[in-house]
Amino acid sequence: MTSSEQNFEEFTEQCLEYFMPLQDEFIKLYDINSYENWFYDHGIGAFHFKSDNGRNLYFKYVDVGSFSTKTDTWKWSWDNKTTPKHVCRGLEKVKAFGQTNDFEELTKGLLDGDEYTGWALTAVSAKLLNAIGAYRIPQDHLFIYFIFTNELTQEEYDALKDKYISCDSHVSGRIAFICQHLNKDTHAGFHEAFDPDTITDDDDGYEAWCDECEKVRLKEDGWNDVAVAFANIRLVCDQCYFEIKERNQKDN
Ligand SMILES: [Zn+2]
Ligand SMILES: [Zn+2]
Repeated sequence: MTSSEQNFEEFTEQCLEYFMPLQDEFIKLYDINSYENWFYDHGIGAFHFKSDNGRNLYFKYVDVGSFSTKTDTWKWSWDNKTTPKHVCRGLEKVKAFGQTNDFEELTKGLLDGDEYTGWALTAVSAKLLNAIGAYRIPQDHLFIYFIFTNELTQEEYDALKDKYISCDSHVSGRIAFICQHLNKDTHAGFHEAFDPDTITDDDDGYEAWCDECEKVRLKEDGWNDVAVAFANIRLVCDQCYFEIKERNQKDN
């Protein structure tokens, strides 16, 4: 039987068989239940377990999605406008797998479900993304599901925190960089250092400059002192960055 002939139920079953022992092992290995508190931080994509006696445990996560007990529906995080792109990016692989195999449960943003749906789709995601464990948290009438891709040391967590900025307009966000000429009222062109769809945590973050800066940069043959002084880069949060991008890019 080829994988395309396999039905989704069978596939989910296999994923759960793979995931359940992995999850038991994860809970045991990290003694997850000994931590009284947890936090997640969409700004940096880090999940933090904290015990009352001061122990900390950090994981890099992918936000898988949420199950609503009010409407009995599952919503993939990539279909949720309030979830930042960078905490659901890994799910592109899950969605692509769904497209290849004709599993609409993996490609439709919103699905009907029951109390098992959340763990089933979390198991599927954990298997396809090679996760080390998962966690579910209650929030109002929702259960939100996370998978953990790797553990972060205190140093790695602190370094991520440094890339984080508080913003007057938004709750919080990753640091992004823009030239002094760009703001939410200008229409000055928008040149980016990285493609936002492929940027990783190891990159310095989003960075953009205007048409005038681009002219200077080309004339100076790159970011020399003159070009850097002209741009006079400032920090904004990544949500502001995308609002400014929307306003300033000229190809739409
Ligand atoms: Zn500029
Ligand atoms: Zn902002």
